[in-house]
Amino acid sequence: MEDKMRTIEKLFLTLIIPVFNEGTNIERLVMRLAPIVEKMKIQYEILFIDDGSSDDTLSSIKQFAAFDPHIRAISFSRNFGKDIAIAAGLENTKGNAAILMDADLQHPPEIIETFVVKWLEGYDMVYGQRVDRAADGHIRRALTHSFYHLFERFGEVKLPDGAGDFRLLDRKVIDVIRQMPERARFSKGLYAWVGFKSVGVPFEVAHRAAGLSKWNFRKLFRFAFDGITSFSSAPLKVWTFIGVIVSAIAFIYALIVIFKTLVFGTDVPGFPSLIVSVMMLSGIQLMSLGILGEYISRIFAEVKRRPLYVVAEVVEGSVSPTGILKKDDYEQATKTG
Ligand code: UDP
Ligand code: MG
Repeated sequence: MEDKMRTIEKLFLTLIIPVFNEGTNIERLVMRLAPIVEKMKIQYEILFIDDGSSDDTLSSIKQFAAFDPHIRAISFSRNFGKDIAIAAGLENTKGNAAILMDADLQHPPEIIETFVVKWLEGYDMVYGQRVDRAADGHIRRALTHSFYHLFERFGEVKLPDGAGDFRLLDRKVIDVIRQMPERARFSKGLYAWVGFKSVGVPFEVAHRAAGLSKWNFRKLFRFAFDGITSFSSAPLKVWTFIGVIVSAIAFIYALIVIFKTLVFGTDVPGFPSLIVSVMMLSGIQLMSLGILGEYISRIFAEVKRRPLYVVAEVVEGSVSPTGILKKDDYEQATKTG
């Protein structure tokens, strides 16, 4: 019933933006984003999570925070990864709804308005759905596709197609996600696990404004692996199946050998097949041990119960004491292009 009472006046929107070495993008982002939310006449805050940047990202944020009370930042002591940064953002959200977006302007800020409209209609989660992945390379696209395929088959939740981190979460959803203490944070899976009334809004992914993507194939692979292991125990269970099949083959082979020995007598050759089967079986065993190890290392990481992240600095926005810079500068900036 509270849903029916959602109004634009009651909305306090937190824009959560994880940033890692985005020094060149901060100004561009704020200059484009701030006028859009200003125009919407809503209460809002822009919350940057500085994920251990080593460039001028934080000082660039501070320049804006110095005259804009809407801007806040939490700076990590080192790089903890985007998903942890998102967790920190949700934990520190003051608003009753939050939007997660990237700093590189690949997530067009103009869509925010549509997100809010959907929220007003009563949706608790509004996710941006990329219409094409043209911004990614061919290999990356193929790998992404096969990951989703695997996840679809074995994961315990269903991931909507093309949905990423660009999304609006209602306070209800935020509170549930905040109760998820896991370190291996596969955000996409977490959103899907939570449920609630959700809707997708298609958008076109822009190219990165500046700088390079922080993802290389090694990281992406780890990410995919974390995703699967966080939401599926199939990699653990498949070994029982393989074990049964291999044992069955071995049993049949044993029967054949016994039969052959009884009928034709013993013959010594057979050394190559012995080596092959020993190597194959030890390979399979090592693989299954490796998978066990992956899960155990994750259990180990979780039971240590370390904090998710370490905060080095908190930046609160303020009104400029000198008044040299004012919020009007944003409007000025958009007028002049
Ligand atoms: N990011 C982060 N920590 C990281 C890597 C990335 O906070 O360890 C941020 C980054 O600054 C950007 C967003 O996450 O705002 C998306 O990163 P990126 O553009 O590198 O990813 P892609 O768009 O290629 O998926
Ligand atoms: Mg990007």
